[in-house]
Amino acid sequence: MRCSEEGVFTKGELVPYGPIELNPAAGVLNYGQGLLEGLRAHRKEDGSVLLFRPDENALRMRVGADRLCMPAPSVEQFLEAIKLTILANKRWVPPTGKGSLYIRPLLIGSGAILGVAPAPEYTFVVFACPVGHYFKDGLSPISLLTEEEYQCAAPGGTGDIKTIGNYASAVYAKERAKERGHSDVLYLDPVHKKFVEELSSCNIFMVKDNIISTPLLTGTVLPGITRRSIIEYARSLGFQVEECLITIDELLDADEVFCTGTSVVLSSVGCIVYQGRRVEYGNQKFRTVSQQLYSALTAIQKGLVEDSMGWTVQ
Ligand code: PMP
Repeated sequence: MRCSEEGVFTKGELVPYGPIELNPAAGVLNYGQGLLEGLRAHRKEDGSVLLFRPDENALRMRVGADRLCMPAPSVEQFLEAIKLTILANKRWVPPTGKGSLYIRPLLIGSGAILGVAPAPEYTFVVFACPVGHYFKDGLSPISLLTEEEYQCAAPGGTGDIKTIGNYASAVYAKERAKERGHSDVLYLDPVHKKFVEELSSCNIFMVKDNIISTPLLTGTVLPGITRRSIIEYARSLGFQVEECLITIDELLDADEVFCTGTSVVLSSVGCIVYQGRRVEYGNQKFRTVSQQLYSALTAIQKGLVEDSMGWTVQ
């Protein structure tokens, strides 16, 4: 789907998966004018396919587009493109319990531009791929490395939108963490280097004395759709859930830590290494809250229970 200078997106077309042609002077290649989204489609036991809150992805892309001076497809155009992509790839949606179809919408400045300015033309693409668990050890608790010298986003920057540029700095930090035997990096805030922010591609939560907390969205953290869903669902179960500043010391002292995102769903954190100190959450209360929320969320996403929150779409 392409967008003219007037900001109107044309009707999209289905094409076989493959390379797309880009002008070397495209805004996305030179000035990072690009946004991505991620969704998972699950197959229900009756064979139909479920999406989880896709309108939220459409809205987040529109917020990001405003910040990057890009036009964005309407919510209806976004949803239509997703549905067409799923329909064309229905046979690739794994059976219930065997993974899901990951859907990646991309909005890029495809028009040629020299000099820092919005591109004159935009392209919206959606592609899909069957996936299993995000972390290599499946559902086993993950291990995180926190290093003060690497930050994801600067204050006033683009950490709160899902722009491709944010991931450029994450690749190095995550690779360093993996080389040291960890699953991912855990970022601290860029100013005080003491407040917990997020991982390279998911949000973080802690549980202490049955109170669930997650970092406040201060502009450098992505407003995750799974994060919001867990807050809403946990509150509906009667949990006290706080969005607040969380220091790394408070996190290390938690009973349970878990992270949330479309790819990671809800993954337990088994260990965090910070300034040479290694904290294990292994034996603490058997991660009962994380387990409860994981089961509830995945049951809704896979259509195994009635969706009392009204989050799934066929
Ligand atoms: N933070 C970052 C940096 C991410 O890339 C993601 C994945 N989109 C998230 C958090 C979690 O967001 P969501 O729950 O919407 O997938």
